[in-house]
Amino acid sequence: MANSEGEFVKHIARRETDFSQWYTDVVLKTGMADYSDVRGCMVIKPYGYGVWELIQKEMDQRFKDTGHENAYFPLFIPESMLMKEAEHVEGFAPEVAWVTSCGSGEKLAERLAIRPTSETMIGSMYAKWIQSYRDLPMLMNQWCNVVRWEKSTRPFLRTSEFLWQEGHTAHETFEEAQQETMRMLEVYAEFAENVLAIPVIKGRKSEKEKFAGAYATYSMEAMMQDGKALQMGTSHNMATNFAKSYGIQYLSREGKLEYCNTTSWGTSTRMIGGLIMVHGDDRGLVLPPRVAPIQAVILPIAAHKPGVLEGVDGLLQKLKAAGIRARVDDSDQTAGWKFNQWEMKGVPMRIEVGPRDIEKGQVVIVRRDALDNKEFVPIQGVAQRVKTMLDEVHIGLLNKALVMRDTKTVDASDFETLREGVQHGFARALWCGDTACELAIKEKTQGGTTRNMPLGRHKPEGVCVHCGKKAEAVTYFAKAY
Ligand SMILES: [Zn+2]
Repeated sequence: MANSEGEFVKHIARRETDFSQWYTDVVLKTGMADYSDVRGCMVIKPYGYGVWELIQKEMDQRFKDTGHENAYFPLFIPESMLMKEAEHVEGFAPEVAWVTSCGSGEKLAERLAIRPTSETMIGSMYAKWIQSYRDLPMLMNQWCNVVRWEKSTRPFLRTSEFLWQEGHTAHETFEEAQQETMRMLEVYAEFAENVLAIPVIKGRKSEKEKFAGAYATYSMEAMMQDGKALQMGTSHNMATNFAKSYGIQYLSREGKLEYCNTTSWGTSTRMIGGLIMVHGDDRGLVLPPRVAPIQAVILPIAAHKPGVLEGVDGLLQKLKAAGIRARVDDSDQTAGWKFNQWEMKGVPMRIEVGPRDIEKGQVVIVRRDALDNKEFVPIQGVAQRVKTMLDEVHIGLLNKALVMRDTKTVDASDFETLREGVQHGFARALWCGDTACELAIKEKTQGGTTRNMPLGRHKPEGVCVHCGKKAEAVTYFAKAY
């Protein structure tokens, strides 16, 4: 363990020189996650899992507020069940892990897929449960793990096994399914901004990038500090595609047998990778307060002096009573070591309490996102001030992320500007919507892909930035994780 000031910080690569190494250093050294002996799989350590638990809590409340219930479905999907939706199977086949034998090597009569996603399993159950329009809408969510065999992996961003939630709903009409798809996209975007302090672009995916088997896919996309985009969540309208493959039918109000319109929507531990890459700095993590497992760390200064420990304890009780996730670090490390340690771990604020503060009836608060500013806060009313300050940190981070995204976004009216733009961030351009054109753009820009076509815009006048055909939509392009 390092014990001199600055020791920790030295061990984290600088973002500017090696962003990828910086990311790995931050994940490993702050105790968010670790590599495991299993190929492509990570261990989420308590500090990282604490972030995930807060994400779950916030999202789960939003799902319930919009009428959804949680359930749990099997991890294994029989091959014949998976195969029913042709387009879906084709999309996921390269990533599926199979169980082929069990026990003492006995070969299974039918291979079992480890779920890469649960449309097929849940669809087959909905077919059983839904009989009439009175059973609709059916609104469920599942918190679980999924497996997608990946060639190259990075903690949180892409791992062979990951944690996520998947919502699955069934409706009478296409319009209702569409409303649900958009409602959940809104829930995701509101969560990203109000909880993770990450601004997102909401829009429709291209035909090439949409979910395998969906009628339409919508996503929220965020910009990272290295100029690459991250898809943070998706919401799909399946129309009757899955209902037809799995026989999800209902007797309508008119007494006719109809297919349901279904949706699905998902977000994962990938969002943790996103918040690291949006907010972190060269000192380490910067956690948005609403998902910070520790929101305020209290550091006693000259703890042996009379009154300090009592003062610290009183402060901790006050903060806890106000619902603030606070902790005291009374370890025997030096103050400098502690400052670095908690800065690296991204705790939104540290509160110093020394003998002179006790005399003056105050504490010293330093915000992680503004380390140069010390604020002296009277003990009277300190909890209220800390609460307000946590909100200020949230707003500060969101605004900073917005500015970062804006400086990394260009409007490209010609192909050269688009090509140049995607090397550093988002390029926004008119596009024809054609898959062949999309593939050519990716090739010519060394990896620039369509991210999404933002909502709420009219069909534009003009021509495609690349092929010159009539433009279909304003589209965001970027290199992406
Ligand atoms: Zn084109």
